[in-house]
Amino acid sequence: MIKRIGDIVLIQLSDVDSNIYILDDTVIDSGTGFNFTRMYSLIKMLKKKLGDFRLVINTHGHFDHIGGNGYFTEAKVAIHEKDAAILEKADMSASMADFFRGKIKPRKPDQILKDGQKIKIGKREFEVIHTPGHTPGCICLYCKKEKLLISGDLIFADGIGNVDGPGGSEAEMDKSLERVSKLAVEKILPGHGDPVLKAGSKVIKDILKGGAE
Ligand SMILES: [Zn+2]
Repeated sequence: MIKRIGDIVLIQLSDVDSNIYILDDTVIDSGTGFNFTRMYSLIKMLKKKLGDFRLVINTHGHFDHIGGNGYFTEAKVAIHEKDAAILEKADMSASMADFFRGKIKPRKPDQILKDGQKIKIGKREFEVIHTPGHTPGCICLYCKKEKLLISGDLIFADGIGNVDGPGGSEAEMDKSLERVSKLAVEKILPGHGDPVLKAGSKVIKDILKGGAE
């Protein structure tokens, strides 16, 4: 399914795939890689080719977000330094590829992301915010000008990411949520489920209070 959030395209391939966001020539997360045919036809519907994309940014190293990196044959891959080894070693356990019954090939990331780094995607500038907890190398991407938060598996429209996977930490998660709750946020584009289209900061605060509807 394709959803449009302004000029940003959200692709949802199946319940197990992460959300895949297309911004200009960049892809944020790539799903499991299980649904190539569907991905191929959706990209074709967008009048693009899989080889058109320049960069894939993985919000973290879990299989449901990285498994489709290879779809984008010409793209460089970027991931936070603390999850980079998952890609480089094709770590079946830390990526949870074994859990998803998927396969990954070792791939050295082309770009290693750090907290505070600025990334220009099309007309927007995003800041990399390191938000460990779900995994050690989870990131959010924040566009201050548009109050837009791409939140990976830190926070969703209706809850927070789990911390019981490999490398998960509740203490780190609490710190990351606290940090993100201080940002001015309107739209949230999470790693799974529906996007939040307005009042993102309130949604985050309500979730942290346990008052989410
Ligand atoms: Zn995850």
